[in-house]
Amino acid sequence: MFFVDSISQIADRIYDIWVRAPHVAHHAQAGQFAMFRIDEKGERIPLTISAVDRDSIRVVFLAVGKTTSQLAYLRTGDHIKDIAGPLGKPSVIRHYRTCVPVGGGVGAGSKGIERVIPQYYSTEVATWE
Ligand SMILES: Cc1cc2nc3c(=O)[nH]c(=O)nc-3n(C[C@H](O)[C@H](O)[C@H](O)COP(=O)(O)OP(=O)(O)OC[C@H]3O[C@@H](n4cnc5c(N)ncnc54)[C@H](O)[C@@H]3O)c2cc1C
Repeated sequence: MFFVDSISQIADRIYDIWVRAPHVAHHAQAGQFAMFRIDEKGERIPLTISAVDRDSIRVVFLAVGKTTSQLAYLRTGDHIKDIAGPLGKPSVIRHYRTCVPVGGGVGAGSKGIERVIPQYYSTEVATWE
């Protein structure tokens, strides 16, 4: 079981959730994702690891369908049944002085990148640094 540290709505249908998942947090690299299953009957969905803080990971998601809508109803202190990861090929970060990663969609991975330039989702803007 994975403890929900916090969840907040940051724009229309877009949520920012922090979940305690030490095994994922300690190994995650930029560009990777994790598979979430909310409960025993739930489907597994992939969500990008947006940031890491000690034992916890942040995911930013758009509530579009069944599982992401259920996720949006969770509150601090709730639990998620399974989180598997980190998965996927990490982004290659070379040692240039200044890099400008460009990503599309919701929750593009920023873990391992020092400064995050705001991301935009259509004309309804969801940004953070
Ligand atoms: C590697 C990977 C990483 C991902 N990371 C993220 C992430 O960080 N944040 C995030 O929000 N999503 C991310 N996604 C997409 C996310 O997995 C899906 O939105 C999720 O699986 C939908 O599940 P659901 O049960 O809520 O919707 P379902 O009930 O399965 O789908 C409902 C309907 O919504 C449509 N739909 C699904 N996704 C979108 C979308 N993004 N925009 C518009 N319509 C859509 C489907 O076509 C379907 O018709 C990622 C996907 C992959 C493959």
